[in-house]
Amino acid sequence: MKAAVVTSFTTPLEIRDREVPEPGPGEVLVRLETCGLCHTDIHAAHGDWPVKPEPPFIPGHEGVGIVEKLGEGVINRALGERVAIPWLGYACGECRFCIDGRETLCEKQRNSGYSVDGAFAEYAVAAARFVVPVPDGVSSLDAAPLTCAGVTTYKALKVARIVPAESVAVFGIGGLGHLAVQYARLLGGSVIGVDVEDDKLDLARELGADHVVNAAKVDPVEAIRELGGADVAVVLAASPRVFEQAFSSLNRGGRLICVALPADQKMTVSIFETVLKGISIIGSIVGTRQDLAEVFALHAAGRTRIIAEPRRIEQVNDAIADVLSGKVLARLVFDYRT
Ligand code: ZN
Ligand code: ZN
Repeated sequence: MKAAVVTSFTTPLEIRDREVPEPGPGEVLVRLETCGLCHTDIHAAHGDWPVKPEPPFIPGHEGVGIVEKLGEGVINRALGERVAIPWLGYACGECRFCIDGRETLCEKQRNSGYSVDGAFAEYAVAAARFVVPVPDGVSSLDAAPLTCAGVTTYKALKVARIVPAESVAVFGIGGLGHLAVQYARLLGGSVIGVDVEDDKLDLARELGADHVVNAAKVDPVEAIRELGGADVAVVLAASPRVFEQAFSSLNRGGRLICVALPADQKMTVSIFETVLKGISIIGSIVGTRQDLAEVFALHAAGRTRIIAEPRRIEQVNDAIADVLSGKVLARLVFDYRT
């Protein structure tokens, strides 16, 4: 099978011919149809974060494909079923986090395309209990971005506990942001889209943002304050400065939802303001299998739209360069069917 492999943190990915893996007990073999390119894959390939994956490895955690083989003891999945392989590749099912519905916090978790090989390949094995069925109403091209960008922003807005009259500022319109705008709208909040590219702000408007702010042209904190401030600020841009701007744009009782993971990890916020304004700073990491099922159900019901461009896996390094240059409007998706 063809696979895009990270061989070191300083060299481009290599397209290699690998043997199709065998599913072990409790695993399935998935013949991939698509896999989205998430910023996390780029951080993985560059070894940007404190906990690093071990080369050689295959990135990819927005995989969508067909179950082609069942490992020993698999009873919950069927041959021919279409499933998604998300970031949460495995969790123990026994710890206090798993038991009370916070499986994304499991300390024994394995992550697709990071601690286990992911979906930048024609085939991948995955834990049968952690792949999520894709409903018929969701194409494989759309299902890929929903598998990380979708579930991550959906969950981030869930933990923000938005009520309909509140305003939500989404910092960073792109793969994640274009979905965050739509989920914020579905929850009823008025939405302010913030980015530094006008075409992304146009997209935010098209997808339902009530206001947009170009942070390259105006001070976003002032602009948001003029609009009445934000009750919730979701940060999807990987820069500490953006987190600080998001914090400063919050109203009393506001919630700062941290989602992006900048390589430079420290932000500075005022303790005084946090206390006096009763601000909550909340970290949100991907979403559970149930969150992903909800994301798929919303999309199947026609409530969300995906902006994605297909690419071939051979173009992986160009695709990464395009994402890093900010040229990509929303999501690039590798399509293995072409
Ligand atoms: Zn991701
Ligand atoms: Zn656990």
